[in-house]
Amino acid sequence: MDVDVVVIGAGAVGLALAAAFARSGRDTLVLEAADGIGTGTSSRNSEVIHGGMYYPTGSLRHRMCVEGRRKLYAYLEARRVPHQKRGKLIVATSDTETRKIEGIHATGLRNDVENLQLIAGAEAMAWEPNLFCTAALWSPETGIVDSHLYMLALQGEIEDNGGMLVFETPVTRIEPVKGGGFDVTTGGAEPATISCRRLVNSAGLGAHAVARRIEGYRADLIPKLVLAKGNYFGCAGRPAFTRLIYPAPVEGGLGVHVTMDLAGRIKFGPDVEWLSTNNPAEVDYTVDPRRADAFYAAIRRYWPGLQNGVITPDYSGCRPKLSGPGEPVADFHIDGPELHGIEGLVNLFGIESPGLTSSPAIADEVLKRIAN
Ligand SMILES: Cc1cc2nc3c(=O)[nH]c(=O)nc-3n(C[C@H](O)[C@H](O)[C@H](O)COP(=O)(O)OP(=O)(O)OC[C@H]3O[C@@H](n4cnc5c(N)ncnc54)[C@H](O)[C@@H]3O)c2cc1C
Repeated sequence: MDVDVVVIGAGAVGLALAAAFARSGRDTLVLEAADGIGTGTSSRNSEVIHGGMYYPTGSLRHRMCVEGRRKLYAYLEARRVPHQKRGKLIVATSDTETRKIEGIHATGLRNDVENLQLIAGAEAMAWEPNLFCTAALWSPETGIVDSHLYMLALQGEIEDNGGMLVFETPVTRIEPVKGGGFDVTTGGAEPATISCRRLVNSAGLGAHAVARRIEGYRADLIPKLVLAKGNYFGCAGRPAFTRLIYPAPVEGGLGVHVTMDLAGRIKFGPDVEWLSTNNPAEVDYTVDPRRADAFYAAIRRYWPGLQNGVITPDYSGCRPKLSGPGEPVADFHIDGPELHGIEGLVNLFGIESPGLTSSPAIADEVLKRIAN
């Protein structure tokens, strides 16, 4: 074998995986189609370290988020990666929404999320003078991270432990070898075939296409892919909030929320724009300025003082969802040999939010499935 482990994709999840393999002493190679780390969804998100109170108890999203958050904070501390535990208020502006946030609180308690607290609207408004709400759920464990510096730290760790990353190297074909292992063929300027014992498909939006290129992989085990774009708007002027502010969640997303970068500059989003294509290459990441009207309406429910003309189209990301509008929300897929019967192979599908937060836990889970 050329290497022990090949990880396809150098996003936050692929890098966390490769770092975990390299840390455990395995010869690890990351193959990435783009010309650098984190050019996919990992640089098109809210950079929020989620608490874990939204997801059905016992689901992978719940377990990976709570465990991932704890591990992520420890990693960021140890590696001195900039992050801030600013805390988040999930706010209700009606009785229906109050019932929703009470439901999130109950799920959070079942999910073992630390220090959640239901507070009166007046108290939340005293903390954040620009806020309007009738009740709020306070999550002090929620934070923000510089996701690029997190990924750079992971890259450094992979390389320090003897691992390698190769860019502009799209995986075009995977052949399971009799007796174990894989031949992985790559395109790009210098096509090659690399043999490895273990293979992880962490190609994000491209994971479905990669799985289809695995010789003999059962097509019925590849879940459907549904794309939902999330648009962001920036906000001019002095930051109106110091904590993350989220409304009650909506179908397909957590609602147009207020988050901020580490310098305190606030932004709004993402909304949920279901796309008619399921081809990631066809996603247009331009933010349509006409969406501003819906943003103003959504934001003014909890920030009535928002002036006209202060929000401007910023960036967007795209969720690799496994379920569409009106369908039960799909969980993460960490599909190992117990599902498909191919030793040494894990396919990751549907790693949308909270994938960044979950990345260290997903890495450990994948190791459990194929490290031995
Ligand atoms: C709008 C939005 C907001 C979000 N907000 C948050 C948040 O606040 N907090 C949070 O925890 N999570 C959030 N997420 C989720 C999080 O961003 C993702 O779960 C995470 O970034 C996924 O990382 P990844 O490594 O799986 O995928 P990616 O970052 O997309 O990386 C996949 C990589 O695979 C490469 N690739 C694809 N095909 C091939 C191939 N054939 N050969 C080689 N390489 C290939 C791609 O070039 C890419 O670099 C959000 C997601 C979205 C869309």
